[in-house]
Amino acid sequence: MKTPISWIIDDPAPIISVYYEHAGKPNTQDGRPLIPTYSNEMFFEFCDIIERNGICGKFSVVPMPGNKGDIVNGLDGVSKEDLDEWMNCLKTRVMPAFSVGPEMLTHHKAVDLETGAALPMNERDWASTQDRKTFVPYISKALSLLKEAGLYSIGVTSPWDFGIEVEDEYEHSISASVEQVTGSKKAWFFLRGLRDRPNAKPWVAREEDGRTLVSIPATTRDYIWQTIDCPRTDDEYVSEIADNLITADGKEGHIIRVLNTGGYPILITHWQSLMSNGLGTGLRVMDEVGKRIKEHLSDKVEWMSFEQITDLVLSNKEAYPKPVF
Ligand SMILES: [Zn+2]
Repeated sequence: MKTPISWIIDDPAPIISVYYEHAGKPNTQDGRPLIPTYSNEMFFEFCDIIERNGICGKFSVVPMPGNKGDIVNGLDGVSKEDLDEWMNCLKTRVMPAFSVGPEMLTHHKAVDLETGAALPMNERDWASTQDRKTFVPYISKALSLLKEAGLYSIGVTSPWDFGIEVEDEYEHSISASVEQVTGSKKAWFFLRGLRDRPNAKPWVAREEDGRTLVSIPATTRDYIWQTIDCPRTDDEYVSEIADNLITADGKEGHIIRVLNTGGYPILITHWQSLMSNGLGTGLRVMDEVGKRIKEHLSDKVEWMSFEQITDLVLSNKEAYPKPVF
């Protein structure tokens, strides 16, 4: 069997940049104003890249991005045409190569579910003191918004490290919410990284009441993030960043190190990393990495969505024990 490889794309939402909303600063590190929105043209470029290179993985859809409305009833400052175009593109070009899932409701301020109003703390801080009584309605709301928008989702991503202080309650709640909203007894989630550890693989996080929850970790770093804060767009810069994951000769880089220790390369980047504050440098890095993987690793690795990885884990649970943290 070929080794699974997958790419985590954190933080996407239609048009709205959740990074702009939660960054807490107006400018990039080199002093350019952060841009509040990303065009659909850049989304189409992303689709060209994943199609050209056969890339699969996980793609978040933040359902109430930056507390600016929601993907079902409309987003502040986003035309219905642009929102519809984004959602259609997601359904026809990103899925099913990528499993979609909410990255909780806003990736910004926590939400009062009764009124829809923003609470005075971010979702990460809110989550740190919750339990299943409040997590289940919150996560179910996020999954329900995706369902209403026509997106089938049996997994979630944690904004920042949402829920890590109360992981047991959080894990129970993910699994229960997925069953409540979709009827699925299997679910996946992304919270933790397993970086620079040998044999880094997903694991069975929880089994209860006939439900199983699989935790899928990132096993590399987001080297593309730096393109947000750099005006460079030259080919050498793009190639150097790609080298961190896989060099042009296919011999070195984080992906190769993970493979050499028996692990699964589960790459991670963010929507804002790919958009590079409007320059799209990150998209070019992704394209280059995809090309190098295709050229050098086609006989060793197989691209998989998070749902395919979940099914693989469930087909042989004993082979995927929970690591010690
Ligand atoms: Zn995120």
